Amino acid sequence: MSELQTQLDKLRSAFDRDLEKAQNDKALDNVRVRFLGRSGEVTLLRRGIGQLPPEERPSAGKVINEAVEAMEAVLQQAQAALEMRAFESRLAEKIDVTMPGPPAAIGSIHPNRRIIQDICRFFQNHGFAVVLGPEIEPEYYNFDALNIPADHPAREGFDSFFLTDNLLLRPHTSPMQIRTMQQHRPPIAVVVPGRCYRRDAVDARHLFQFTQIEGLLVGEDVHMGHLKGMLTGMCRELFGRDQQVRFRPSFFPFTEPSAEVDTTCPLCRGNGGECRMCGGSGWIELGGSGMVHPNVLRNMDFDPDVYSGWAFGFGVERMALVRYDIDDIRRLYENDPNFLYQLA
Ligand SMILES: [Zn+2]
Repeated sequence: MSELQTQLDKLRSAFDRDLEKAQNDKALDNVRVRFLGRSGEVTLLRRGIGQLPPEERPSAGKVINEAVEAMEAVLQQAQAALEMRAFESRLAEKIDVTMPGPPAAIGSIHPNRRIIQDICRFFQNHGFAVVLGPEIEPEYYNFDALNIPADHPAREGFDSFFLTDNLLLRPHTSPMQIRTMQQHRPPIAVVVPGRCYRRDAVDARHLFQFTQIEGLLVGEDVHMGHLKGMLTGMCRELFGRDQQVRFRPSFFPFTEPSAEVDTTCPLCRGNGGECRMCGGSGWIELGGSGMVHPNVLRNMDFDPDVYSGWAFGFGVERMALVRYDIDDIRRLYENDPNFLYQLA
């Protein structure tokens, strides 16, 4: 009996020594397994009870049970102390709230958007208002009021998406010329950025959805000199201060006279030669323009003998290709951050 007690005492001091060294959960668990586990040293001792004389077994069992209970209690205390220490060290942790956090990916302004902003700012500085209009319009605003009657072959050229017999996705921003003139008397000065739609096959230069920016000035004594002056200023804002603008005679039903507008090629500075941007001509085409057709003014009850005006409509994506030297218009809509960040 005293022999058992001696063995237990020895195990207990070994247990206390190990416990003192155990500084984390895993070490504590190792101590538990070594002494109280299924093959632990105290467990093995308990198994030895069977070999004792029957009258000694109950008291031997009692002594071992007491020893086990005491050890389990100490283990529990050690576990609690460990948790308290971890908690206190977390409380004591100092957080530097002035340390910069991880940078957020904030993206950049899309090239199209930047061109629209630059053009709008330029015209706003000259007293123009920016107006936006619906992308679905009746034929009246798209064609009839713009001097393109139902039987006019120019309707074909717009390659429109019709939604019903009368409603279509606007193929140009010009319907807003009509909406603006319906609501205001001259002087009128607006620019209209917005999405347009045409049944174009998609390739490196064409999209079925694109962005146009439209300008309209109506007042007394408005002439093409004003148009050329404003467009020259706009091109210098977009492409550089030496830009020139030229008009090439053209035809649009809602302007008379009509002109295609070209500006100096920003890549070769108008020198042409082997330039891949302008094909050697030294000029880049921006879009259409002209003096508002007298019939359009009459449709709005503006007297063409008193009022005159000019309008233009340019493709924003086309300007982005030129301004940022992009080879394929589709890149603008692929949402590839690596591409867009290069232009940021
Ligand atoms: Zn060029």
